[in-house]
Amino acid sequence: MSNATCPICHRPTDPQFRPFCSRHCADVDLGRWFSGTYRFPSFRQDNDEEQDEYRDREG
Ligand SMILES: [Zn+2]
Repeated sequence: MSNATCPICHRPTDPQFRPFCSRHCADVDLGRWFSGTYRFPSFRQDNDEEQDEYRDREG
C-alpha cells in the first residue's frame, strides 16, 4: 500500500523525501507555507480590532 504521490507534482513519492518525490518539491511546499500563511501576522488583526472598538466608544 505505497500509492502515495507527491502533493506538489503528483509523482510517486521517494521514501527519502516523503511525502514528496524530491527535495525540490519539499522546498516548494515549504516556500508556499512561508509566503502564504506566514504573511498574515495575527497580532496586526488584533491591533486593528482594538482600535475599532475604541473608535466605537468615542463616537
Ligand atoms: Zn514532486
